[in-house]
Amino acid sequence: MLINEGFKIEYGRGITRNLFNAFQGSLVITLPEIWDALETSFSEKPEQILFVETLEIDELEKLSEDNRNISTIFGLGGGRVADVAKFLHWKNRATLFQIPTIVSVDAFFTHEIAIRDNGVVKYIGDAIPELIYVDYDIIQKAPVKLNRSGLGDILSCHTGLFDWQLADRQGEKPEWNEQLAIRTRKVLNDVTANAAEIQKVSEKGIKMMTEALNWIGNQCYVQKHPRFEEGSEHHFVYNLEYVTGKHFIHGQAVCLGCFIMSLLQENEPEKVLRAVRETGIYITPESLGVSWDEIRDTFLTLNAFVRKEKLPYTILYEKDMTENFLKKIKMALAKSY
Ligand SMILES: [Zn+2]
Repeated sequence: MLINEGFKIEYGRGITRNLFNAFQGSLVITLPEIWDALETSFSEKPEQILFVETLEIDELEKLSEDNRNISTIFGLGGGRVADVAKFLHWKNRATLFQIPTIVSVDAFFTHEIAIRDNGVVKYIGDAIPELIYVDYDIIQKAPVKLNRSGLGDILSCHTGLFDWQLADRQGEKPEWNEQLAIRTRKVLNDVTANAAEIQKVSEKGIKMMTEALNWIGNQCYVQKHPRFEEGSEHHFVYNLEYVTGKHFIHGQAVCLGCFIMSLLQENEPEKVLRAVRETGIYITPESLGVSWDEIRDTFLTLNAFVRKEKLPYTILYEKDMTENFLKKIKMALAKSY
C-alpha cells in the first residue's frame, strides 16, 4: 500500500448520512444538480445550502462577507465546489469538511485555492480541511466516466517526472530530487497495477486513487512545486482549451496529453496507453468532443504556446510537434480504440 501522508481521510459507506445534524450553524456548498441527486442520501436537510455559481474572486469575496458568521463549512461536490469551500474556510476561519462526490481531481487534496481573476486561473491562500469524507455510497452514484478520469492527475507524474529531469539537465530550478522521483513512481505503479479496480470504480479503486491524489497534493505543498506531477501533458491540455474554447473532463484530457507527450519523449508510450485503456478511459478526439482538425491546430501551435506563456521547461522546448508526429498519434489511437 501507499504511504499515507496528507490530509486526514475517513473511508466508509453511509458515513455522511447523519453528518449535517451534528453541526449547528453550518453551511453546505454544492451544485443544484448534485443536491438533487444526493438529497435522499442524507437523513436531514442542512440549515443552509449555497449553490456555487462562479470562481471569480470578486464574487467569492462578497460570498465570504455574506457568510461571516458560519462556523462549519461542508463542500459537497467536485473541483469547483472544493475550491469555493476552501476559499470561505480560509477567509472566515471556519472549520472545513470536504465530501467529494467524485474522485476526478486533486482540488480536495491541495492547500492552494484555484480562483479566477477575470477568467484567468490564480492560486491563492491555504486551506486545511478538518476531515475529508470518502463515502463510497456517494462516490459510486457518480458517472463512472468521471470517477475513472481521476487517473489523469496521477498518470501525469509519468510525463511530468521526465520533463522535470530534462529541465534539471538544462540547469533549471527546482533541482531534481531522486528520492521524490522514486516515491512518485512507486505511487504511480501501485495505481496502474490496480487499473481494473479503478475501471470498476470499486471501493479499492476509489481508495487507491484518493490516497495517491492526497499524497501528490501533500508533496506539492511540502516540495513547494508541482514539477514531479505536472509537465508537457498539462501544457497540451491548456493549449487544447485555448485553441478550442471548450471545457473538458480534466483527467480524460490529461490522459490524452500523457499519451501524446510520452510518445514525444520516447518514454514508454505503450505502458501509458495500456494503463489508460485498462482503466476504461477513452482518449480519442471524438470521445473528448473535439475534431482531428482541432487536435491538429493544438499540435501545430503548442511549441509556440509554451514559449509565449513562459511555461516551465519540458520536451516541448526540445522537440517540435509536426504533421508527421500527428500521423503517428492518429495511427496509434486507431489501432487501440
Ligand atoms: Zn491536473
